[in-house]
Amino acid sequence: MSMITIVGAGPIGLQTAINLKKNGLDVDIIEEHREIGKPVQCAGLISKTGCKELGLNIEESFVNEIKGARLFSPSGIELSIKKKEPIALVVDRYKFDQAFYKKALKENIQVQLSTKLIDIRKNSLFLESHGHGELKKTGIIVGADGVSSIVRHVVAPEIQQENFVHAYQIRAKGIFNPEMVEVYFDENAKGLFAWIIPENNSIARIGLATQMNENPADNLKKFVEKKGLVLDVLDKSSAMIPIGKPMQNLVFGNTLLVGDAGFHAKATTGGGIIAGLQAAKACSDTIIAHIKNRKKLSDYNKKLSKINKELAMHWKIKSYLNSLEKQKIDDFFLKAKKAGIEEFLQEHGDMDNPSRFTGKMLRSPKLWSLLPDLLKMI
Ligand SMILES: Cc1cc2nc3c(=O)[nH]c(=O)nc-3n(C[C@H](O)[C@H](O)[C@H](O)COP(=O)(O)OP(=O)(O)OC[C@H]3O[C@@H](n4cnc5c(N)ncnc54)[C@H](O)[C@@H]3O)c2cc1C
Repeated sequence: MSMITIVGAGPIGLQTAINLKKNGLDVDIIEEHREIGKPVQCAGLISKTGCKELGLNIEESFVNEIKGARLFSPSGIELSIKKKEPIALVVDRYKFDQAFYKKALKENIQVQLSTKLIDIRKNSLFLESHGHGELKKTGIIVGADGVSSIVRHVVAPEIQQENFVHAYQIRAKGIFNPEMVEVYFDENAKGLFAWIIPENNSIARIGLATQMNENPADNLKKFVEKKGLVLDVLDKSSAMIPIGKPMQNLVFGNTLLVGDAGFHAKATTGGGIIAGLQAAKACSDTIIAHIKNRKKLSDYNKKLSKINKELAMHWKIKSYLNSLEKQKIDDFFLKAKKAGIEEFLQEHGDMDNPSRFTGKMLRSPKLWSLLPDLLKMI
């Protein structure tokens, strides 16, 4: 019997395991794929501040540095926010995940590849390993099995489809501005947006996410045609993104959820790497205190309150934008541009933590014309 089993060897599951093992706990991981980090289903954009605060070393997976973003309303009104210094990094997600895997192996953590969780009954995990059924007994289960989490389906089956969007992304050759990401609030990307994230001036990750009842591949084709982009496609991928409200409870008996499985992703952008890694720390700290000091596993919910506060704000902003008709989004862009939002965000913007600048917005008289929208958002 294992002390702790983590389901899913994505960055969040691996980091949770590394934290536990470093504190002397016995932990193993099961992973359905035979290679860590594949298939790649991510644009790989992460904030520099998030990396710094987490002490993340991305030397092996570094691809590009980003100085800002160009945001486009449905009819093409542009908000351009560019900082003097880089604010975000583009990583190679395969190499990024592999770096966590190497760290886990260094800690002697056993990662059982080609092993898929099928079901859970209390302390028993029903697995399919290399085509054979297997039963595994464990003390604590951590569901880090991503957006379509089986662990979450077992412990919280009530989660509905409206909490997800469906994404499709290509990696393509073309001509790009290597310093800026582009974000389009486009009719083909209802529920989120379309993006262009440059790796350099000749390769970018171009994608969109849309409501679950739409076909994101068809929509991306329409978007690319509309934009008149001339592209030579190198890769394609498709996956869901969680954009739901943060879950108030992530502890179900001996089972905890973390990362995409526990909705640790920003509803405004779908970005889940930084929030997931922050939650991984809360998750492992909780388990360590439970085993060493007999603290309750439900303390995990309290430890997540700071992360959840930011995620809830992302969710409110997204819900407000989603509630607006096309014309109203255009109006909002125009109003925000006139009020000087570009200059404000150049100085105060924070990709991960809206609470770090919303207070300043309320205290900035130039932006008071946006107050009615702001109050509805937050
Ligand atoms: C198109 C797209 C673009 C994105 N772009 C960004 C971005 O730019 N920046 C950002 O921060 N985030 C982005 N995200 C989100 C980001 O990819 C996720 O938030 C992140 O991968 C979450 O990590 P995780 O470890 O929780 O889950 P995952 O990385 O999904 O890892 C889960 C692991 O669990 C395994 N697993 C699943 N089910 C089982 C099972 N039953 N048994 C065993 N193993 C299982 C999977 O194989 C996988 O290895 C994007 C997502 C998509 C789809």
